[in-house]
Amino acid sequence: MEEMDRNSLFHPLTSIAAHQQGGPKIMAGAKGVRLRDHAGREMLDCSGGLWCVNIGYGRPEIAEAASKAILDLNYWHLFGSSSHEASIRLADRVLNLMHEHADARHLRRVFFGTSGSDANDTNYKLVRYYANLRGTPEKRKIISRKGGYHGLTAAAATLTGIESYHTAWSLPSTDVVHAECPHLYRFGLDGESEAAYCDRLIADLEAIIEREGPDTVGAFIAEPIMGTGGVLIPPAGYFERVQAVLDKHDILMIADEVITGFGRTGQWFGTGLFGLKPDMVTLAKGITSAYFPVSASVISERVWKVLEAASPEHGPVMHGFTYSGHPVGAAIAMANLDIIENEGMVGNAAEVGPYLLEGLKARLGDHPHVGEIRGRGLMIGVEFMADRAKRKPFAAAQNAHRLVAAHAVEHGLMVRALPYLEVISFSPPLCITKADCDEAVDRFARALETSTPELRRLAAG
Ligand code: PMP
Repeated sequence: MEEMDRNSLFHPLTSIAAHQQGGPKIMAGAKGVRLRDHAGREMLDCSGGLWCVNIGYGRPEIAEAASKAILDLNYWHLFGSSSHEASIRLADRVLNLMHEHADARHLRRVFFGTSGSDANDTNYKLVRYYANLRGTPEKRKIISRKGGYHGLTAAAATLTGIESYHTAWSLPSTDVVHAECPHLYRFGLDGESEAAYCDRLIADLEAIIEREGPDTVGAFIAEPIMGTGGVLIPPAGYFERVQAVLDKHDILMIADEVITGFGRTGQWFGTGLFGLKPDMVTLAKGITSAYFPVSASVISERVWKVLEAASPEHGPVMHGFTYSGHPVGAAIAMANLDIIENEGMVGNAAEVGPYLLEGLKARLGDHPHVGEIRGRGLMIGVEFMADRAKRKPFAAAQNAHRLVAAHAVEHGLMVRALPYLEVISFSPPLCITKADCDEAVDRFARALETSTPELRRLAAG
């Protein structure tokens, strides 16, 4: 298998040279929160795959729903007013779930895709479509943020604010501008208060809008809590103030809830966590817990009204995919949402998440190379530092946190080393128990102990 992999697979997000040398890490099976690789080694999965396996692995209810959907109607599309029950019910359910948050009651329609990236491409295009229909075609730039991750298709990759995804690809980076990354611990000035830091971020946003010209800025996109950027929780009041700036300049807010959606933060949506008033919401991952690729763009009343009013003159909306609203994916999403609801998984994330966070802090908080440990619900980040006291980071090229994540796997714990800052993320399935968390903390502490001499050497060098 290893040989066949080397000779046939082009792996995403993988160094070709390292792969040829090290070979693949082949996963063979999984159940609940436990993974098993092809050598039979068991691991506790605190990554949730790529932040996506919210209900845990191997649920027979999903297999039954998929099997039934395949036998009933394995495919039909939504083009030209075609429809089917599974997508109708899922769209209605997503809206109802979002409407539970008082600030999201203006969301009106759901457009389906198959990945977070294509949903953000849809949003990117909708910003332009909306501007064109309103007769302000130049109001189409999108402000994203450094450290933000919004996917890797061509448009989504330009929204992503992490340089390593741009270099070498010569992407057409037109009409996207990146604002400052909101992370006080790393980017705050010496002794700067949270409030002063927030003032500075808002001033930066206002300066960008002024510099670009408010008539050219159509939207602002943000993850409520940045995931890939390093589990970055914005300073208090940040989103309220961002929203006020956007409202002043008639700029749309796009909330990228690909990670924060469907319970990960201990609330159904990050929109509810921070009182966002988004005009578009990007959903993926947790909508099916990765049992099938489904994504969605949820559109607000004000955007929908413009599209609707222009429709008689403009004809069909010339955007959509073969698999927009795939009936098997929609049936799986419904079964997944049943499990999240019936088993109280959002509540579990709200209760067990802080337990895991406190466990990590108690056990690792004093380690000389562990900086900040932070999180909301079951979205937690551990940031590593060359010198904790001086808040001096490791050089990016040292990959200090990657060696800790590699040792964690050897100790039977799957966690992820993120690509922007030296952060390891914990985003386990939402069904994880407190006993599993104790085990995770223990395994991670042992991995850190194994890594410490190497970390010390890197810090010195
Ligand atoms: N947005 C966010 C916030 C994400 O975390 C991701 C994936 N990690 C994406 C978009 C892109 O999703 P996909 O990989 O499904 O295209």
